[in-house]
Amino acid sequence: MSRLDSFIRRMTSQKILLEYLVDQVNEVKGPVLELGLGNGRTYDHLREIYPDKEIFVFDFAMNCHPSCAPDAEHMILGDIRDTLAFCGPRVKAKASFAHIDIGSADPTNDLAIVHWLAPLVNERMAVGGFVLTALELDLANFERLEKPEGIHPGRYHIYRKT
Ligand code: SAM
Repeated sequence: MSRLDSFIRRMTSQKILLEYLVDQVNEVKGPVLELGLGNGRTYDHLREIYPDKEIFVFDFAMNCHPSCAPDAEHMILGDIRDTLAFCGPRVKAKASFAHIDIGSADPTNDLAIVHWLAPLVNERMAVGGFVLTALELDLANFERLEKPEGIHPGRYHIYRKT
């Protein structure tokens, strides 16, 4: 498979999965967390599919397309390792949904990320809240959910806090 085909497949899976969870997420109170603004593609989509949810976005810096820049209140700048732990005064409520898109494509680095990320995600999520992540997380208080048909088995993971 060419890198173009692989990219298209990854983006298609991401869109399908984000939309797949909307009805279930809307039944849970609390904001949405977008970990990894990047150029703002998935943030822009989240705004569209969650018009009634507050969305907080985390990244080192704001380097997105100008049309999808979050406002200052909802953009949390810095290393997620620090900001997720201390965002409580701004985010206030536990989250109904977290989309995690901060993988590094380096297996060692990814293992280090999941080690510090999992407990922080656990802390920030509401009971019943959903996590969609490209990184496999060891989340003791969560169940792992089935993905819709056609999604590559190892590509994304869905968890729900019990
Ligand atoms: N979801 C984005 C989109 O659709 O455009 C793409 C996100 S991009 C793959 C990953 C982003 O995560 C990068 O912008 C990077 O700066 C950010 N990131 C990775 N690790 C981070 C960390 N520890 N703290 C803050 N931001 C981080």
